[in-house]
Amino acid sequence: MHHSLEKIKKIDLHTHIIPESWPDWNKEFGRGRWLTIRHDADGAKLINADGTLFRAVEKNCYCPAKRLEECDTTDVLSTVPGIGFNYGAPSQDALRVAQFLNDHIGQVIKSEPKRFVGLGTIPLQDSDLAIIELKRCVTELGMAGVQIGSHVDGRSLDDSSLEKFWTTVEELDCAVFVHPWDMSDAERVQKYWFPCHGFHARPDLCQTVTTTDPNLVHDPEILELLVKKFGEDRIILGSDYPFPLGEIDRPGQLIETTQLAKEPGDTERIRQKLLWKNAVTFLKLPDF
Ligand SMILES: [Zn+2]
Repeated sequence: MHHSLEKIKKIDLHTHIIPESWPDWNKEFGRGRWLTIRHDADGAKLINADGTLFRAVEKNCYCPAKRLEECDTTDVLSTVPGIGFNYGAPSQDALRVAQFLNDHIGQVIKSEPKRFVGLGTIPLQDSDLAIIELKRCVTELGMAGVQIGSHVDGRSLDDSSLEKFWTTVEELDCAVFVHPWDMSDAERVQKYWFPCHGFHARPDLCQTVTTTDPNLVHDPEILELLVKKFGEDRIILGSDYPFPLGEIDRPGQLIETTQLAKEPGDTERIRQKLLWKNAVTFLKLPDF
């Protein structure tokens, strides 16, 4: 494989993309709970079912070409939780939405396989449907795995109802990226926030290590501490692009500029792991 010297390899594990448009699921399912998208001069607005604004997004949220122009990283694409995590909805409706979103991400990653890696979304409130869609994502759509929420409409991720799902994940040997969402239950968060974002398998780390104070992860000393505590093999760059949680101008900047060990050679080794090598292992991308 040839790499130009000045270009630094980077995989951004935590980025989001949505389709440019989608059906009005409120009409389709006859239940008013789904977001719609309305385009205007500067981008688009996501609108709640009651007509109020959910959030404004820019073109880089739905336009792959715009993302290629703005970023020099390989983006791991997943849906926006507000659109894709419909764990409280009837499971058949949630499945239809997941299929639509996954077909879209499947197309985008096929169009630029070196720049985009995909994570699907699944109706986790129904293990059987979730497993069917998980298998489709990995075996048919070429995704590295799925993104799921940090709980399933109140059920924790170790709930016995999810056992079949986790068994299938093991069989497929695919990645599961846990995205924080709906963090209103403070007690639950207190108990889980650290393990959820670090060590055990959900290396959704850099920018999302805390959802309450994003500044924390812009601090080189905290990054050094994380490397020390969790280990250099357990931390992966993730910026939340295109949302302004992280390093919007240059994902990876903190890792690139922090001295992560006493010896420069050690710092360089750790840096490469955090910027892309650990992601290659987590996502199983042998050709990267
Ligand atoms: Zn995110």
